[in-house]
Amino acid sequence: MAGRSWRLDARCAEVDPELFFPEPGAPTAPAKRICAGCPVRVECLAYALDTREAHGVFGGLSAQERLRLLRRPRTTGIAEEGQPDVA
Ligand code: SF4
Repeated sequence: MAGRSWRLDARCAEVDPELFFPEPGAPTAPAKRICAGCPVRVECLAYALDTREAHGVFGGLSAQERLRLLRRPRTTGIAEEGQPDVA
């Protein structure tokens, strides 16, 4: 899907947007359950990671979970025996 046209198929467009921006400490599970069945979850997560969205649930991940994902070392997929495959 090119650009942001994926938003047309967003499952969250059918529910209260507040659900995806819970107060600090409030559960994110209700939003994540909706994301789990969303046909554009991958595109949404890629968008949130690319734009460094700092708030809300996107692509089934909370802001903290996305931050952890961004901070993880990238892997090359090529590992020598006994060596981590970290780029
Ligand atoms: S993955 Fe979740 S936040 Fe993203 S478009 Fe789908 S329902 Fe909305």
